[in-house]
Amino acid sequence: MRDEESGLIRDHITRVVRPDDAVIYRHMKPGDTYLNVPEHLRRYRSDIFKYVRLSFEDVSRTITAHIAKDGYWYIHPREDRTLSVREAARLQTFPDRFRFAGHPTSRLRQIGNAVPPLLASAIATEVRRALNGSSTSRGVRERHPAYGSSFRSDLIGWFHTRGRKFPWRDTNLSPWQFLLVEMCLHRTKADQVARVIREVTDIGGTPDSFLANTATLESYLSTLGLDWRLANLASAAEYVRSNLNGQVPDRWPELKSIPGVGDYIASAVQCFAFGRPSVLMDTNTRRIARRVSGGDSTQPVWSLRLHLRDLAGEEGADPQWNQALLDLGALVCRARSPSCGECPVRPHCATGRRNSAESEDVTPARGAGATVAVGGGEG
Ligand code: SF4
Repeated sequence: MRDEESGLIRDHITRVVRPDDAVIYRHMKPGDTYLNVPEHLRRYRSDIFKYVRLSFEDVSRTITAHIAKDGYWYIHPREDRTLSVREAARLQTFPDRFRFAGHPTSRLRQIGNAVPPLLASAIATEVRRALNGSSTSRGVRERHPAYGSSFRSDLIGWFHTRGRKFPWRDTNLSPWQFLLVEMCLHRTKADQVARVIREVTDIGGTPDSFLANTATLESYLSTLGLDWRLANLASAAEYVRSNLNGQVPDRWPELKSIPGVGDYIASAVQCFAFGRPSVLMDTNTRRIARRVSGGDSTQPVWSLRLHLRDLAGEEGADPQWNQALLDLGALVCRARSPSCGECPVRPHCATGRRNSAESEDVTPARGAGATVAVGGGEG
């Protein structure tokens, strides 16, 4: 649910209560089971049917998928009815903003089948704590030197001296201006964008000023190619002005709701505008991940994403990391002719090491002046 809906309670719907059940419920106090129901009212065997009226003074029965069949294990502590969908969700520790899909019976089954989010969170926290401090974790780092901090420090060290200088780096742009930058960079060379971006972000510095100056902006944006770019940017400006109060949001669903904003742009805005670590996935970063891990073109995207996240080290994929990685892909680990000999992360790279070993094996006649061939991915 969106923020503006956060005060609403959804799914607070219950089953219709059968008249005979209503009589039984009235005879049950909090904590009572079917055995407490007067015998003349019982219509089922008490060893099979287990009505339970929950109590505010006790923990609830565990919510299971059986709640989708009937709610007799979950009679409300005070009201003569079974639990609503929302009450069951709360007992499973789902936040009220989380919605469930389908018929109410299906929603109850989803809730009953779920691992409670707070339980999952507690387990994940302990697993992370164990991995961070364990010898297993250290062993992984030692066996795979590409893992974590050394890759990061070598890359960032190189970036400080060899990284590209662009007008949108190290400046105090607003989130809207960062969004403009990223939408301009989409399918365009960064050097081209660099030539006009100051004017674009000055003249179109807010959604209002962008929409008021589209004629002027067209002359700058037309140098970037793609006829539809201006229309796309204008649609984004109109949407942000009308639906988001003129503010570019930092949350993923709202960012993705802006016309023209896909996964990459949303991640880039989260990272560069809001400083939130975010793994950027494009052809360049995927190529680097594939080459460093020694994988091939069949390596799934999720695996490449995890690998990049590991390479980013404990700080995560923060703005500096992402800028450095993008520059590595543009300047060194290029698609067609990677410069492994100049690469700052070559000691950590499976492809770089393999090619290094191969180049030492070749005969002088073949090796002299030969370009190191690099396999993998788009290269
Ligand atoms: S060593 Fe070569 S293949 Fe590996 S990251 Fe560097 S440039 Fe790319």
